Amino acid sequence: MENKLDGNAAGGILQEIFPFEMTLVQSTCSGCGVTHVIGELAVYVHGMGTVIRCPSCDTALIRVVQAKGRYWLDMRGVRVLQIRKEE
Ligand SMILES: [Zn+2]
Repeated sequence: MENKLDGNAAGGILQEIFPFEMTLVQSTCSGCGVTHVIGELAVYVHGMGTVIRCPSCDTALIRVVQAKGRYWLDMRGVRVLQIRKEE
């Protein structure tokens, strides 16, 4: 079972890991090179965790699993993250 949501749905679990607002972070896809704001990406939530996919080529950018008291973060689909510095 898999539920497709928008990128803002991933904000909750990413906020538990990263100290900045991840839905505003821009990620460049390693598959097609297109840059998207994470809040605009397709998010799939299922039993094993959360998968954030590129809407252009469907590459899995970020996978997050929470298990055994740890977060498992697979970001191999991200070439670059652009994080705006707080002024
Ligand atoms: Zn892509």
